[in-house]
Amino acid sequence: MGGGNGFDPHDPPRVSGPVVDYGLARKVLISEVRRGVVATTDACDAHPELVRAGRNIGGEAAGPCPVCSHETLRTVRYVYGDELGRDSGKVVYPEEWLAELEAAVAEFTCYEVEVCTDCHWNHLIRSYVAGKGHRRVAQRQRRSGGA
Ligand SMILES: [Zn+2]
Repeated sequence: MGGGNGFDPHDPPRVSGPVVDYGLARKVLISEVRRGVVATTDACDAHPELVRAGRNIGGEAAGPCPVCSHETLRTVRYVYGDELGRDSGKVVYPEEWLAELEAAVAEFTCYEVEVCTDCHWNHLIRSYVAGKGHRRVAQRQRRSGGA
């Protein structure tokens, strides 16, 4: 049943806003694991599919694994949404696929997850709504010249 913090590719958590940052929840959990409040086995219970995705196609993470300190931390992105049809719940690969979806689909949710392929630590980094109707802020800021 897992510890409840892990990311389940088949049952992603509900998103409460257009962009949700899980950095604080992640920090809290890491400190609880370090203090022994949460068992490592509970925190490091990554779904087998997530571990496989991290190992095979995961992107590089910002640093080492916060639990085992190995350089085996990877980031994986998943997309979900009714308008994605059969593609809902798939891992983003190759990277360009995300841009294609953003150009073709009106709205979907993207989840960025980190997973350690060694100790199986996993946590959501952030989630955001993307698609044709949801241009990302970075893109909007670049367009300063008008028309
Ligand atoms: Zn680890």
